[in-house]
Parts: sequence; C-alpha cells; structure tokens
Amino acid sequence: MEGQDEFSTYPPPGRRIYCNRTLNLRAVRAIGYDMDYTLVHYRVEPWERRAYEHLKVKLSDLGLPTADLEFDPTLVTRGLIIDTELGNLVKANRFGYVTRACHGTVPLEFERQRETYGRTLVYLSEERYVFLNTLFSLSEACMYAQLVDRLDQRGMPGALGYGDLYRQVRQAIDEAHLEGELKADITADPDRYAERDPEMALALLDQREAGKKLLLITNSDWAYTSRMMAHAIDPFLPKRGSWRDLFEIVILSARKPDFFTQQMPLFELATEEGLLRPCPTGIRRPGIYVGGDAAQVQEYLGVSGEEILYVGDHIFVDVHVSKAVMRWRTALVLRELEDELAALEGFRSQQRELARMMEEKVRLEFALSQARLQLQRRQGGYGPQPAVPSQELRESVADLRARLVTLDERIAPIARQSGEILNQRWGLLLRAGNDKSHLARQVERYADVYTSRVSNFLFETPFVYLRAPRGSLPHDDAQVLA
Ligand code: IMP
Ligand code: MG
Repeated sequence: MEGQDEFSTYPPPGRRIYCNRTLNLRAVRAIGYDMDYTLVHYRVEPWERRAYEHLKVKLSDLGLPTADLEFDPTLVTRGLIIDTELGNLVKANRFGYVTRACHGTVPLEFERQRETYGRTLVYLSEERYVFLNTLFSLSEACMYAQLVDRLDQRGMPGALGYGDLYRQVRQAIDEAHLEGELKADITADPDRYAERDPEMALALLDQREAGKKLLLITNSDWAYTSRMMAHAIDPFLPKRGSWRDLFEIVILSARKPDFFTQQMPLFELATEEGLLRPCPTGIRRPGIYVGGDAAQVQEYLGVSGEEILYVGDHIFVDVHVSKAVMRWRTALVLRELEDELAALEGFRSQQRELARMMEEKVRLEFALSQARLQLQRRQGGYGPQPAVPSQELRESVADLRARLVTLDERIAPIARQSGEILNQRWGLLLRAGNDKSHLARQVERYADVYTSRVSNFLFETPFVYLRAPRGSLPHDDAQVLA
C-alpha cells in the first residue's frame, strides 16, 4: 500500500509536514519551541472570546460603545490585513493585489473594491497595514471591524478616525494580554481553553533521546508558562515526569521579536515563586531563565544558526525575524491547515469539474478569437484571406458566444462555492482565487517547513530528511491544445 511499510502508516494530509526549503532534521542539533499556540494549543473560540470580553470592558471604560457587541469567530481569519487608514479588512494575493475586502464588517461591492484598491498594492512595510499574524489576532480584528461600523453609524467620542480607533483597540488588547486577569481566567480552567495533544510529549521525548537539545522560548511569564506547560505535557510523560526535564533551557518573558534582534539582560529563575537572579555572564548551565537573547542561547549551545530549528505560530515574530536576523531554520505551526485540507478534500470533485469546464472555456475562447480575426481580415481586406464565407464566420462567432454564455452560467455557481471553502467570507487561508494568498507567500518566504501541530514530528521522526518539492511555474502544465 502506498506510503506504508512494515513500521508505520504514513500520516493523513492534515498531519504531514510540508517543506518549502529542504530540512535535514539529522543535522539539527537544537530545537527551540514557542509555547502559546505552539506547544499549548488553545481552543480558539473560547480563548478569543475571553480576550474579546476583556477588550470590551477596557474599551467601554474609554467611552467606546462596545456594550452589546459579540465576538464572531467567523468574521476574520489569520492572514488577513487590516487597512487602518480606511477601516477595512482585506485579503491580498501573493503580489499584494487585494482580492476581497470588507469595510468594517460589510463586504465591499466589486466596483467599490476596484475603485479603492485597483491601483494600490498592499505592502506590509507600510504603517497603515496590520497583518494578522497569529490566532491571537482574531479578537482584536473582530472588535476593530465592529467598531468601524459603529464609527460610521454614529461617530465616536473625541472624533476618532479609523487609524486612532485601531490604535486604541491595539493598546487595549495589549494591556489585556499583559495584565493578569485574562491569564487568571485561563489558568483557572485550562481544560476549557486549551486542547491537549496526547501525542506531543512522545514527539518531544523522541527528539531529546535522539540527542537534540530542546529549548522553550516564550513571551509568556513564569506563572502562566508553568501552569500551561504542566497541563499540556505532564499527564503524557512516563513515570510522573515533568515538562521541565524535557527542556535544557527555558526562556520566559523572551520579548520576541527583540529577543532575536537585540542584546537583552538575562536572569535566572531563583525560586518557584518567580524571584530572579541576574546572570551578567550569560547562560552557563541548563535551567530556567527570564529575558536574554538569541545570541546568548547560540553561544551557550555552541551551534550555528542553521543547526537550530525554531518552531512557532507567529508568522512575523517566530519565523520571519528568527530567520531574517539569526538565520535559524524555521517551522511554522498552522493549525488551520487541518481544516483547510479537509475542506479541499470535500470539494475535490467540484474542483475537478471546475477545472474541466475552464479548459473547455479556454478552447472556446481561442476558437472565438480566431473566428473574429478571420472576419476582421476579410472586412479589412488584408492578410491571408479565410477560406469560408463571411456569413459562415459570423454564424460561428454567434454560436461560440452562445456556448460561452451557457458555459459561464454553469461555471459561476461552482466558482462561487470554490471561493467560499473553509470561510464563507474569506475562502481558503492559503489561496486567493487561483493564486497563493499573501499568507501563503509569507509562509513560503520565512518558514522552511509548516505543519498543523507539533506532534506531527512524531510521524516524521527526528531522523527525517524533508525535501522541498519541485517549484511550479505557469509553463509546467503546457499541453498541445487540440
Ligand atoms: P508565545 O507565543 O509563547 O511567545 O507567547 C505569546 C505571549 O504573548 C502570550 O503570553 C500572549 O498572551 C502574549 N500576547 C499575545 N498577543 C499579545 C499582544 O498583542 N500584546 C501583548 N502580549 C501578547
Ligand atoms: Mg506563540
């Protein structure tokens, strides 16, 4: 059977590791893990709803009309872009062309979208754009879109513009994450907010026993990390082990992305209560640290950037910066991939039918263009003259046009459905129409590999040689058209 041998079964598509740049795990000597939404996976709806509730209170205290707003988990997806100048949410393709847009929560009509973005390419380096890098972005983006509606309807206190409104929402969600209350809600009932993966601990043990040094590098603090890591890992370790024994180095409150770009003071955790001891001489032994930076980690391990793999969920912080600045190898955890691949599988027969009809359309359009050109040459009296009479050519043109109209009527509903796979408003995460989405472009640029969850390393083993497939180009499928 394909993909099967005497030792194992190959994983289903949603659980595989996909490779942009060849990665030989045997040559990797240290694997660093992010915690939130990487080793600890949150149930997105309750977690983001909770964050949203805290956000609501904070914004209401500032006088914004949030009282009757509700978190809507379908309103936004990761990889969309907030245009803070216009109060829009947009989806762009890999070149930055906007393929869909909403103003607040209201989809933009095609014409309006074209007027607004027809001559504008989205460049994430421009301050007006905010890329939704992680699942943590959903609560803030949902709130922003809903408040844009409010701003349009009745204005806001202090004559806020769309840009100011975004800055207020951003600051409030920032505070909600940094202050203790939201985290206290989560740690009070971790089962409600975090989904455990029983296979993950074994995948980590396999890596450690294969000689890899495991690191945990998280922006979360000690109190939160110790609770969430124990919840996610300890029940699945043999002999009542602790997650702490898996990791040679734990770095808390890492302040990524600065962790990768700057020199930062390092402290060692001195007591379980969180008392700290300064470490001016850098990391000297295995342990639990606060702060520090990537260069100190590299120096302690005595390895170069290409020998460290960093696994995280945040596209900018965990994979873009770690690769661009430290040249670490990178793995992106994209949990949505499981639903994306399942949805594509469910649509497979329609997709095949759509592809067949599009081929037919190309053939008919080609024939129509040929017939029109023949007519034009006949009428203009230039070039090689057609063998068939003009009347016959005119009939061919009319017939081909009619067949194209009929075909378009059959294509339209399936094409529409194809744009609504996974999320009715925004479609697939990694596609924008027929092209790759802006998210897909970020992923291929910065993540050497991507996968839906950490435990997928279990199937691949610590000895895998992941090879990038041959990249595709438009001329790859060129065939002789009959
Ligand atoms: P990591 O993914 O393990 O590095 O941890 C992410 C940490 O950053 C978590 O403690 C989150 O609560 C926190 N976080 C996520 N989004 C924000 C934000 O917008 N501002 C401040 N902290 C955030
Ligand atoms: Mg994270």
